[in-house]
Amino acid sequence: MQTTQFQNFIGGRWVSSESGNSYPVNNPAFKNVILGTAQRSDIVDAKRAIESAHQALSRWAETPAPQRGTIIYRAFELLRARKSEFAKTITEEEGKSLSDALGEVNRSMNILEYAAGEGRRMFGQTTPSELPNTLAYTTRRPLGVVSIITPWNFPLAIPSWKIAPALICGNTVVFKPATSTPLSGINLVSLFEEAGLPPGVLNIITGPGSAIGDTLVTHPMVKGVSFTGSTDTGSRLYSMGARQLKKVQCEMGGKNAVIVLSDADIEKALTAVVEGAFGSTGQRCTATSRLIIEDAIYDNFISALIDMTKKLRIGYGLLPGIDIGPASSEEQLEQILRYIELGKVEGATLAYGGNRITGAEFDQGFYVEPTIFTDVEANMSIAQEEIFGPVLTCFKVKDFAEAISICNNVQFGLSSSIYTRDLSKAFSYVNQVEAGMLHINAPTLGGEVHLPFGGTKASGVGTREQGTEAINFFSEITTVYVDYAG
Ligand code: NAP
Repeated sequence: MQTTQFQNFIGGRWVSSESGNSYPVNNPAFKNVILGTAQRSDIVDAKRAIESAHQALSRWAETPAPQRGTIIYRAFELLRARKSEFAKTITEEEGKSLSDALGEVNRSMNILEYAAGEGRRMFGQTTPSELPNTLAYTTRRPLGVVSIITPWNFPLAIPSWKIAPALICGNTVVFKPATSTPLSGINLVSLFEEAGLPPGVLNIITGPGSAIGDTLVTHPMVKGVSFTGSTDTGSRLYSMGARQLKKVQCEMGGKNAVIVLSDADIEKALTAVVEGAFGSTGQRCTATSRLIIEDAIYDNFISALIDMTKKLRIGYGLLPGIDIGPASSEEQLEQILRYIELGKVEGATLAYGGNRITGAEFDQGFYVEPTIFTDVEANMSIAQEEIFGPVLTCFKVKDFAEAISICNNVQFGLSSSIYTRDLSKAFSYVNQVEAGMLHINAPTLGGEVHLPFGGTKASGVGTREQGTEAINFFSEITTVYVDYAG
């Protein structure tokens, strides 16, 4: 059977890398199945893409924002028509279940629809001037060429929530998806091509970040960088961009905690923890990786949690009824198994799971059991570091104050949640917890596209993503004073 070759999109044309090099894209459920080959781009391709984005800039920036919005809205309509096809690609290249993939496509549709509408808002301010006969107002202009670098875990939604606001603000884009999941990114770019985006406005180059990442940040024509990925890569790119005074935003890792107090709605909390810890194989930046429970309900909660976890159905994400797919790659699987071993060595109790799943159809994929550690101490590696897999670490605390202290005792600050019926404790939690997104009586997951998304501490730096914050990141404010005294 012939392998499909996926190409870069530069200057409105689908092209191979200059070197002619490509690499296979695998299905994590069937390691020997090749979904196609993608271009192994290098610096030459990155420069070509940046130059083509630069050439397209002035026309796109001068296109009225509502007209830019019309094209983005057309992309939204096309995505609605191709929902199942795009979801299938996500499952095939990333591994998550089809229902999770459909959720991701829905999120992407919401993003496109919202960003299209921003073309008719894009508000500035008008204020009274302190001088007579003077008009004072602000207006927005694009940054210029922006580079967008994304991870593999939401291969459609994260590119959508960066590209759509970048375009509506009048920027032109060079987009580099994660090496292991380029196909959803290519799908998204094709959608914009079909929607009528002019050549050069959106370019995609696939291939290793280690080879082309520096160029995407440091090239003099690039004025802004939006990155999502690990804290190590993000902090490196952020400092590189800062040295050249570029506008950079980095959304990075998490170690999100759910606190369950003894007065909580236990059933609701259990469902949220199981979905938060193990849904999408724990490979969400907002996944629940720490569970902090008050002493009085600890034992009962853990035992109910294990019962509920046992019912999860693991397997190939395209099969009906599957809750959890494989880890997204062999490296990811190895990282998860390494942390499980480390947890045991450090003295935590392995209360459930902990093994690679093998036998029959599982041998072909990177499957791991949902895993629960109890008796976890705050200074253990499994309590501090992002595992990015279906591994939950549980802490027993004597009261609310200790729960807050454990919750904040990590370098990350992305998302967090509390289950309680006590309004006073809920708001005290809001005031004290160090995280960008807080949930009361709801899981650590997700977010709505018209609200800011992102973290604090080692989880995020630069302007937040989504909602009007995305418009703030992808535009520059100009302040204008007009003396009309004549
Ligand atoms: P990663 O290794 O940092 O990679 C992210 C992106 O950066 C990929 O496109 C990668 O390309 C590229 N990259 C790697 N090295 C680079 C370099 N030296 N210069 C420029 N780009 C480079 O992260 P990941 O493993 O894909 O993603 C998982 C991480 O993303 C987790 O930490 C997760 O928490 C985080 N995440 C955060 C959010 C959020 O909103 N806070 C959302 C989702 C995920 P290659 O694929 O070629 O390596």
